[in-house]
Amino acid sequence: MPSLSQQIKDSALSLNFSQCKICPADNLDSYQKHYQNFLDKKQHGEMDYLRKHQSLKTNPCQIVPNAKSIILVSLNYFQARKNANNWAPKLHIPQHREGQVARYAFGRDYHKVFRKKLKILSQTLTANHQNFRFFADSGPLLERQYAELSGLGYIGKNTMLISKKYGSWILLGEIITDAKLDYDLAFDRKKMVCGSCQKCQTACPTNALSQDYKIDASKCISYLTIEHSGSIPVELRPKIGNWLFGCDICQEVCPHNFRAKVSQEPDFLKPIAGESLNLKEILSIPNDETFTQKFAGSPLMRAKRSKLLRNACIVTSNLKRLDLLPEIQLLCQDSDPIIQEHAQWALKELQKNIPNYQKI
Ligand code: SF4
Repeated sequence: MPSLSQQIKDSALSLNFSQCKICPADNLDSYQKHYQNFLDKKQHGEMDYLRKHQSLKTNPCQIVPNAKSIILVSLNYFQARKNANNWAPKLHIPQHREGQVARYAFGRDYHKVFRKKLKILSQTLTANHQNFRFFADSGPLLERQYAELSGLGYIGKNTMLISKKYGSWILLGEIITDAKLDYDLAFDRKKMVCGSCQKCQTACPTNALSQDYKIDASKCISYLTIEHSGSIPVELRPKIGNWLFGCDICQEVCPHNFRAKVSQEPDFLKPIAGESLNLKEILSIPNDETFTQKFAGSPLMRAKRSKLLRNACIVTSNLKRLDLLPEIQLLCQDSDPIIQEHAQWALKELQKNIPNYQKI
């Protein structure tokens, strides 16, 4: 009879998870200082839940009493783009003429995919009368740090977890349990590190990775286009390029990702948003109902109509899409004040590209 740890790992692989490792549910007090610093500098932007959950971040026993083990799973989500993003980071000139979507958001929302799989995986623990809680990017734990402790990979200068086999194109989930399991060895940083590489730092258009192994989330294009509500700072708008939802730049340039393998997860491979979205269609979404019909089940639901159309106004301006002036003009009267403000800004920016535009 295989050990409980082995049963869990076998079950994880049969559920199509790419990797499964286990680490002790120790307190990670050494990270507290870094985390406090991140919050003090307000680099978490508007993500106030990060401050609210601070005491739980490094203390699994506050989440599951007497927690002893954390089971970490990863799921590879890489897919090649048919329309290469030919982004020119130094010039900030995107060459693809529609709105790009980050790879993790091409298909079904990974929270839903993980929840279903983690529920099945945790049945092995239920059968053994163990307490547990599971999370997929929705829990308070510093999951990348625990993933490094479990040996799943190491945290690179772009602050992503990088696995030897899959690079950083992986999503993480975890089960915290009071079961005493067999632990894997922590990642050996001597084996695979960033070294003198700075590719992600120099490629980031907004300079969000200026400090090694730290991110200023308030400047990150992923944060700005997905999490940030309200107005996007005017000085950052041109740097967003053609990213309509999320951003993959710091991963696309990483040498550890050059050998990426295509995901085997059917829910990710079946597109809902797909790799890019037609700007004319997005700018023409009339209301929340139409938005929901189009994106139900996709991570884009997080942005709702308000943020996606806000982002689309910025991308339209950055791509100098004068053919979309009628759509932008219409949105200048939108009932959503955020869309209205960004449309008015985009209109002015686009007009700068029309010779003698005052005459129009
Ligand atoms: S691009 Fe270079 S510096 Fe950045 S995470 Fe990858 S290896 Fe590390």
